[in-house]
Amino acid sequence: MFICIMYEYEKRKDEDKMSEVLNVQAIFGEDVFTVGKMRERLPKKVFQEVMNVMEKGGVMSLSTADVVAKAMKDWAVEKGATHYTHWFQPLTGITAEKHDSFITNPDSEGKMLMEFSGKELIKGEPDASSFPSGGLRATFEARGYTVWDCTSPAFLKSDATGVVLCIPTAFCSYTGEALDKKTPLLRSMEAISQQALRIVKLFGNTEATKVIASVGSEQEYFLVDRKKYLQRKDLIYAGRTLFGAPAPKGQEMDDHYFGTIRERVGAYMKDINIELWKLGVSAKTQHNEVAPAQHELAPIYATANIAADHNQLIMETMKKVATRHGLACLLHEKPFAGISGSGKHDNWSITTDNGVNLLEPGKTPNENIQFLLVLSCIMKAVDIHADLLRQSASDVGNDHRLGAHEAPSTIISIFLGEQLNDVVMQLVETNEAKTCLKGGKLMTGVSTLPDVTKDATDRNRTSPFAFTGNKFEFRMVGSADSIASPNTTINAIVAEAFCEAADLLEKADDFDMAVHDLIKKNMTEHQRIVFNGNAYADEWVVEAQRRGLPNIKSMVEAVETLTTEKSIQLFGKFKIYTESELHSRAEVLYETYAKTINIEALTMIDIASKSLIPAVSKYTKVLADTVISVKGAGADASVQSEMLAETSALLKEAKEALKVLVKAQADGVAMEEGKAQAFFYKDTIKVAMDALRDPIDKLEMIVDKDMWPMPSYGDLLFEV
Ligand code: ADP
Ligand code: MG
Repeated sequence: MFICIMYEYEKRKDEDKMSEVLNVQAIFGEDVFTVGKMRERLPKKVFQEVMNVMEKGGVMSLSTADVVAKAMKDWAVEKGATHYTHWFQPLTGITAEKHDSFITNPDSEGKMLMEFSGKELIKGEPDASSFPSGGLRATFEARGYTVWDCTSPAFLKSDATGVVLCIPTAFCSYTGEALDKKTPLLRSMEAISQQALRIVKLFGNTEATKVIASVGSEQEYFLVDRKKYLQRKDLIYAGRTLFGAPAPKGQEMDDHYFGTIRERVGAYMKDINIELWKLGVSAKTQHNEVAPAQHELAPIYATANIAADHNQLIMETMKKVATRHGLACLLHEKPFAGISGSGKHDNWSITTDNGVNLLEPGKTPNENIQFLLVLSCIMKAVDIHADLLRQSASDVGNDHRLGAHEAPSTIISIFLGEQLNDVVMQLVETNEAKTCLKGGKLMTGVSTLPDVTKDATDRNRTSPFAFTGNKFEFRMVGSADSIASPNTTINAIVAEAFCEAADLLEKADDFDMAVHDLIKKNMTEHQRIVFNGNAYADEWVVEAQRRGLPNIKSMVEAVETLTTEKSIQLFGKFKIYTESELHSRAEVLYETYAKTINIEALTMIDIASKSLIPAVSKYTKVLADTVISVKGAGADASVQSEMLAETSALLKEAKEALKVLVKAQADGVAMEEGKAQAFFYKDTIKVAMDALRDPIDKLEMIVDKDMWPMPSYGDLLFEV
């Protein structure tokens, strides 16, 4: 009997262990209607038609869409789905969904069916008139359509609402204007594909049928304890702390960066990976980041469109899983003053469908003429449209990071590294690039370590747009922002430079000579955009000004770059944004800015009036009582008196600042929406917010901790 029990016990232990072993291959893409699943479930002809549309574009017949919809629905229902949704990305920067169940009206017997038609798959009309449209859609004529993007696979989302089939869609107005972030991105991908194809054809690559923009985005985030998070109204409403004295320790010891991952955070990361792998997101890298409580996750790069969708899923999953672990995930660009904020490095490259990465320099870039042409075009694009690139990475939170000595400067420049810079200099100065620097061996001085070769170029961590081997890393993007707009802009500006190059070279009598001259011309004219030094240094600001590079300091100042003649020309030429779409986006950005700062101001007013000022006031009473009783006991109460005086003075300063903020907020909110209002929020309300924060943060350092109504920076950052 005993042996039997022991046997059962051991067996169960083994089984438990087995169930603990994670079979990543088995779960990867489990919740995605992948090409593989389509191949299995669709008749061959239908499958071919779908693949054709996915790869080459064009219209899918309704009968084919019907078959796809049924297969998709059957698969989803087998996995427990009850609803479907057109999943889209309005101009709020996050995703939106409206669920519909698959059920049909019951028949006369009371029996209903689970159905999903091709029509429902292809097009939806979610109304959704409350999303920002910047005037493109008046609510009284509010038709808005969601349109299936078959290039991004449908997937299942499981949460408390059950299992929902999510169909990635574009979101457009009745007149076909884009109301979302996906549509322009898709348009820009077509533009760069067409123009890059012209370039590769010139170099004899006639097999390529498209060029794909690929993106890998590195997502930074903070994790804090959920119970403490819930005691911070600023984190709840604004996503960042609006008050808070610094903790005694920050990030000065560099002991968090790449440090051992704490158990609680590790369990969270494990769960995130599982959730993401099921969704077909190839979560690859995880580590602790520079600031305490800050971390990073990077997936393997994917087609820009899918990368943008996946980044949305990453952000959403991070938040969802955090709750499950009693944590809160902060995606804001600057949740805490005084320590590093979070960004989202956007790694970008372009590859032909027959596998040639146009940004691969090879071993001898000086001899790789196609690469040099591409590089020279990118230099030109970034120089001419530095303003647009800067704009594409601006959001409200990112204003706290950019130019603040912890993130790229607000000035756009390109880092090329030693090797490429040397090639560019040779071309510019001597008309010919005869040599190129080699990487060589890494000398560690330790005989037991293996010999390793090193890259020809070191990295630069301060550049906003850095060449990193076979891709550019756009390091400006904010952690909470969608990566759709930055990539739309990169694709557009590079497409334009390619187009201009191809226009010239296609007509050239002597191609070799013409291409040489063009590379030299581009590199010479746009060399000013290259900066290989420390972009955090103050000297760079002066130098950049001397070079005539734009230095756009804030999001609101960047908005008008969208509607310049240059921008309208560029985006119009490639049909990425119409003029009215650009104007509408500018309007939405001004509104978003004012609304966001308005929420922050109201949150500060709320916390200061209802929580902090009353708490300090109570503390002054405690001090006053103490002074009286100490004096009454005949002892020296001078310290208590001094504390009381100091506290009262700061309290007065806080109350005055609060009054100023209350008035400014009332003035701001009464203004007409638009540019002037946005600037008022930046120049007046933000200043008033800082003036209120200052005395309150000083008070936090004086008032009895037991009486301070919110967890401190130390509690939030070091006690996860
Ligand atoms: P690091 O932090 O050192 O810059 P990471 O490994 O954290 O690097 O992230 C690099 C990102 O760049 C990953 O998402 C990776 O998949 C992506 N990446 C790598 N090669 C390319 C490429 N050719 N095109 C676009 N993205 C790429
Ligand atoms: Mg990284």
